[in-house]
Amino acid sequence: MTEQNKAIAAVTDSVPDRSVARKRALAWTHTARFLTTASELTQLPATELPEIAFVGRSNAGKSTAINVITQQKHLAFASKTPGRTQHINLFELGPKSEPNALFADLPGYGYAAVARGAKLRWQQVMADYLAVRRSLAGVVLMVDARLGFTDLDRQLLAFVAPRVGNGAVKLLVLLTKADKLNRSEATAALRTAHAVLGEFSTSQADVGVALFSALKKVGVGEAAEVLHAWSLS
Ligand code: GDP
Repeated sequence: MTEQNKAIAAVTDSVPDRSVARKRALAWTHTARFLTTASELTQLPATELPEIAFVGRSNAGKSTAINVITQQKHLAFASKTPGRTQHINLFELGPKSEPNALFADLPGYGYAAVARGAKLRWQQVMADYLAVRRSLAGVVLMVDARLGFTDLDRQLLAFVAPRVGNGAVKLLVLLTKADKLNRSEATAALRTAHAVLGEFSTSQADVGVALFSALKKVGVGEAAEVLHAWSLS
């Protein structure tokens, strides 16, 4: 085979591989089902399963993203039930008889109206969870693409930075509601995110950022593939 034919073969070979990987990943995320809810770290079940945490400011589009990634209309809305908004909600994935990963939906943050006591409690829960949860394999941070990183997003990143830096925890930032941006705004949002995340990059870190729209289904298959790969690594 000539070099050129080899290159063509590589491209055409990789196309079906990619779509198979994506289908597999989406079939896997679709298996997500509610496991349990906890208001404190100590109430979370100890587990050997890799856990992927979803975090973000209230209204960033976290519930919608979880629902679209798992292709389930109402999965994450348990997290919105009054009285449960400060809880960590766990979902199990994989075969029912042999689950192979967990998703953790963490409380949204940043409501201006929240009292100081509740804010401090949030900080404590998040800092503890992100720093201590042994089975934590990855964090998906939802950031509204129009607003960019807020102070609380940066604070949250700081909580998990040591474990991201040494490669123990992987990080994916989804710039949500990307359908609201035009092309140049989208490029600028990505550039800014890369600059912020540059601070966390080390040779061992696995950090990604992608535009995401639940509405237009942008980045959904890609996100599923990343999470599936995390669960296998
Ligand atoms: P959460 O508080 O982070 O869980 O946010 P939600 O998932 O409840 O979303 C907050 C608001 O953003 C809702 O009104 C959603 O309909 C809207 N939203 C979520 N995802 C998208 C998106 O991809 N595009 C647009 N245009 N709106 C979205």
